[in-house]
Amino acid sequence: MKRVFSGVKPTGHLTLGNYLGAMRRWVAVDQHQADALFSVVDLHALTVEHDPARVRRLSRQAATLLLAAGLDPERCTVFVQSHVDEHARLSYLLECVATDGEMRRMIQYKEKAVRERARGGSVRLSLLTYPVLMAADILAYGTDEVPVGEDQAQHVELARDVAVRFNQRYGHTFVVPRATSPGVAARVMNLQEPTSKMGKSDDVGPGIVYLLDEPDVVRRKVMRAVTDSGRDVVYDREGRPGVANLLEILAACTGGSPEALSGAYESYGALKRDTAEAVVEVLRPVQERHKELCADPGYVDGVLRDGADRARAMARPTVDAAYRAIGL
Ligand code: ADP
Repeated sequence: MKRVFSGVKPTGHLTLGNYLGAMRRWVAVDQHQADALFSVVDLHALTVEHDPARVRRLSRQAATLLLAAGLDPERCTVFVQSHVDEHARLSYLLECVATDGEMRRMIQYKEKAVRERARGGSVRLSLLTYPVLMAADILAYGTDEVPVGEDQAQHVELARDVAVRFNQRYGHTFVVPRATSPGVAARVMNLQEPTSKMGKSDDVGPGIVYLLDEPDVVRRKVMRAVTDSGRDVVYDREGRPGVANLLEILAACTGGSPEALSGAYESYGALKRDTAEAVVEVLRPVQERHKELCADPGYVDGVLRDGADRARAMARPTVDAAYRAIGL
């Protein structure tokens, strides 16, 4: 059976982008068709300015939401990255294989470094080396496939390069992974800035739909989405990014295609109303299950403890082999 690994960062509340671009497919496809691991990658949340108590709270919330979205601990492994030491152990070895030039070329690094500097902060070294830790997350488990949104494709490519290079230099140790894309909704955009991705740690709150937003909040955000200057509803990602984003969200929620849906609407208002309702309906069962799980913290604790035990047992042989292969 193929091995799948993916994760979410607890840098903010999980968004509709996380759900449509990644989590939904993990639930519907990956946990059924693969030996799959899903992690709340909390070490990655330390790469930018953070508040310790908030990271802990958000990690717990993210893990609870993964279960609420439908990941089933009987079918897959759900765990928190920092509970498994192998990630950090392997990351250092991979830093000895990757180059600083590769890190500086990463689009997310460039964007986030600019943002940190603009806020007057300094850039943490871990922000630069982030993709190496992500490569360790993936390679430690002999991962074949990494189901991610479009924004993460470059990082998975780096994990491939590092795996190939390590194997060539030190003997075959790692499976070479590949990214798989969710197709529609691979890149959900911010409703207020439809040329930027809907990212959980961004500041443009009104343009981000969070998984735990109340129905009326979802409706308000979608109804206020920035649309384009034209009036007819056409699907054109380049020329009409605002409308294209709504069509993609609606398509992802209802199962249609954005092109076909564009023909069904004569006004932006009607498109927004239907999109808002579709999102509310998609989020409703997740929110209900989340509430139930919050009332049963012992269950979530148990899932995460078992998940970490299973993950550790899977990662250790590969990471130990990497230590031996590199000369330690
Ligand atoms: P974020 O940018 O929200 O911090 P993460 O790095 O935690 O995202 O990503 C978790 C998963 O969600 C990844 O597979 C990522 O590709 C996907 N994802 C995040 N934002 C979006 C988006 N706006 N559209 C589609 N997929 C997304």
